Amino acid sequence: MFKKFIPFAHSASIYEIEYDFYKRNGIKTLFMDLDNTLDSFKAKHPQERTINYVKGLIENGIKPIIISNNRPNRVSGYANELGIEFLASARKPFSRRIKAEMSKRNLDPNEVMLVGDQMMTDVLAGRGANIKVVLTEKIVKEDQITTHFNRLFDRPIRKYHKKRGNLVDWRNK
Ligand SMILES: [Mg+2]
Repeated sequence: MFKKFIPFAHSASIYEIEYDFYKRNGIKTLFMDLDNTLDSFKAKHPQERTINYVKGLIENGIKPIIISNNRPNRVSGYANELGIEFLASARKPFSRRIKAEMSKRNLDPNEVMLVGDQMMTDVLAGRGANIKVVLTEKIVKEDQITTHFNRLFDRPIRKYHKKRGNLVDWRNK
């Protein structure tokens, strides 16, 4: 049941994933969710930890791109400060815009990974686009109001798969 919700791997936070994990899985492009994955939805500016993590990705030959459902004016300011590209209004859980982004950039789905904090948007969209997904926990407690509804489904499904050992720690992949 709920097989579409099984991520490739799980991590408490994006920031604890070591760059070697991406490399040993052949990942060259990392799609990163913004709100509650990289930062609180209230954070207008990236903190030191995000700046350093992004810098490390690039140094390791992994191209980070923010893929967010949030509006262009929210996403662009944050991404521009990091000096990285982004796709706003990504419409996750649908995968059409993610697939379009990959074909525009000529990306091999085997070399792309998505990291995000939500079952209902990130995992479904990434799996729909045939790319590996790492599911994280929320980085802060508060969610944007539009996310509250998704969490009603996220919590029980997350619990269901956790219980069955389907949320495999990134260190074991
Ligand atoms: Mg999110």
